[in-house]
Amino acid sequence: MTSASPGIEPAGRPTISSSSAAKRVLLAKPRGYCAGVDRAVVAVEKALELYGPPVYVRKEIVHNRHVVDTLRERGVIFVDETSEVPEGALVVFSAHGVSPAVHEEAAERNLRTIDATCPLVTKVHKEVNRFAKDDYDILLIGHEGHEEVEGTAGEAPDKVQLVDQAEDVAKVAVRDPSKVIWLSQTTLSVDETMERVDQLRERFPQLSDPPSDDICYATTNRQVAVKAMAAECDLVLVVGSTNSSNSKRLVEVALKAGARASYLIDFATEVDESWLDGVSTVGVTSGASVPDVLVMDLLTWLAERGYGQVDEVTTANEKIAFALPQELRKAAKADSGRS
Ligand code: SF4
Repeated sequence: MTSASPGIEPAGRPTISSSSAAKRVLLAKPRGYCAGVDRAVVAVEKALELYGPPVYVRKEIVHNRHVVDTLRERGVIFVDETSEVPEGALVVFSAHGVSPAVHEEAAERNLRTIDATCPLVTKVHKEVNRFAKDDYDILLIGHEGHEEVEGTAGEAPDKVQLVDQAEDVAKVAVRDPSKVIWLSQTTLSVDETMERVDQLRERFPQLSDPPSDDICYATTNRQVAVKAMAAECDLVLVVGSTNSSNSKRLVEVALKAGARASYLIDFATEVDESWLDGVSTVGVTSGASVPDVLVMDLLTWLAERGYGQVDEVTTANEKIAFALPQELRKAAKADSGRS
């Protein structure tokens, strides 16, 4: 379902060296930070720089423990709801996006807002609005309780039904089977989503497809890279947090693609040494919210245990970058005009 995205150069068929080294690491590329995460983290850093602490952030800016802890140390206060932000203060909305109700609540409380929603999540919000306006029933494939899904569904709560597990397909009720469309969360497993779409289409043969892929380029590319090396790996270590959807999907994809074992870890210190018993090839990758320093720590940890040879498996070269939220661009411009 995924076409080549602008700003991405396919890397051609990856070659995996048939090294004679008894112990080696295959390192997936692309891995780690995506353009949306980079933009959201830089937005918070810029807000700290321009306005000074405290800067409030609604929910975790991105789903990564290291990133959140580092920003907290620099003066960011993370809250669950805008109601916890003092009247008139500055609040940043996370990369996962928020519903219109959250924007309204912030306006009622006179909060100054910076919206760090990833543009690719905003794109799905716009699709919901467009199809809701055309009176479609929208079947949103995604994980119940995930912040992104709450924000996306909140654009048109009376028109959107969430489809998470296979058993949800039977529960869907539509008004007109010729006006039904599926959309999805941006960070799902590409293969599982298509399974869900096939199940939905069995019930609703006239089901419409999204105008373009909702699963984002970063999620797709990281899954393609891990698939390319998984069958060669006795163990695949995915650096990422347990609340990171795209990181968890990488573990599942690795196992499905032939890795003998795969684990999600936040830090190198979480690796259980017994996982390495009898392991020759360790695959390493990381979720889209993970800074590469954590992967480098893991490579050092592995090298200390004999896995010093690292071969990168490249399936695409990403060149995408997003401009900072416009509230910050304006403020930065005004600030540079004063200095
Ligand atoms: S994973 Fe995709 S949708 Fe999420 S922030 Fe990154 S680029 Fe945006």
